[in-house]
Amino acid sequence: MRGATILFVIVLQFLVGLSCHAQRCGFTGGRVPVSPIQELVPEDEIVIPVVVHIVWQQPEENIPDERVFSQIEALNEAFAAEHIPEGLVPNLFQPFITDTGIRFCLATRDPQGNPTTGIERRHTPLTIAPGGTKELHYTALGGLDAWDPDRYLNIWVTRFAGGITGTAAFPEEGPKEEDGVEVHYEFFGKGATPPYDRGITTVHEAGHWLGLIHPWGPADPTCDEDDGLDDTPLSDVTYQGECPFWLVFSCGTPDMSMNFMYYTDDACMAMFTPQQRDLMWATLNGPRSALKTSEGCAFTPVHADEVERQPLRLWPNPNAGIFWLDAAGGIEIEVYDLAGRLVERLSANGARAAVRHDLPQGIWMVVLRRDGRIVGRQRMSVVR
Ligand SMILES: [Zn+2]
Repeated sequence: MRGATILFVIVLQFLVGLSCHAQRCGFTGGRVPVSPIQELVPEDEIVIPVVVHIVWQQPEENIPDERVFSQIEALNEAFAAEHIPEGLVPNLFQPFITDTGIRFCLATRDPQGNPTTGIERRHTPLTIAPGGTKELHYTALGGLDAWDPDRYLNIWVTRFAGGITGTAAFPEEGPKEEDGVEVHYEFFGKGATPPYDRGITTVHEAGHWLGLIHPWGPADPTCDEDDGLDDTPLSDVTYQGECPFWLVFSCGTPDMSMNFMYYTDDACMAMFTPQQRDLMWATLNGPRSALKTSEGCAFTPVHADEVERQPLRLWPNPNAGIFWLDAAGGIEIEVYDLAGRLVERLSANGARAAVRHDLPQGIWMVVLRRDGRIVGRQRMSVVR
């Protein structure tokens, strides 16, 4: 958790050198304020494949798929700076609100290339210690094995003993088999348990997984240390259990208490900064660069017999509401969001048929069918 007991546990973990797991990943680009170190970071976009391992003991811990979908949605909204509560971010910090260009998708292919829902479940006799015991990460020990952590963000959802909401592994913290994010089931997804009920625990932990540390620095909050980033003000308060809807101060300056890397209640969390974005991209261009070529959410054909010799393509991509494809003989079009939910059905007929849609800006998965058979799959970006 991001609370008093939790704070103690996390600080203790740092002090004794244990792994403080806390983090996560994404895809897009563009509309981000330029910061001094951004020149070093190529403009890019990424969608990070996510696998969710649900390791449960009591039935209520075996959360439904819908909660998982809502968590993917919460991750994407946070990393895209969408749906920020009105009035939450003071004018002073408005210019620092940043679309990180990072997005997340529920995996559509497992490490062997087989179709998957991106969700694994296991009933376990394990009692999971605060922060996630080693056993959680190993099928042979009662948990569930990680999928290749170079190519997926592994999220384990379970009940932690004690009062911690989530943990994560920093880049290269290791061991690889335990690389990823662990989140207490009560605080996973939207509609979870207040005050951590908007999926922000996973956002915070994914921030760690991509290299971010807390704004107050690596250990106890003091005014002598910070996170090394210029655009997150010096602070010695964690805002654990607080929800400031006003400007709050520490170390002589206003605090960005609505930054995702504080412990603030979910209702009062809103943003990453440009330099946090750059640091996460340095991770994605460095130790986690294999995510860029991951096929975990590939919408290329999975089975050869599903697809005709010349898979159908749609163009232009990105588009702003109209695309074309060769639909001679008739094509049914299914559009899925990054959590894998069907959001729209369209159809087209004719050589070089134009298709109009009203999908909002974002990244979508498109499946093309002819007579019910899949004849093409493609990721599509919509710009509005
Ligand atoms: Zn943290």
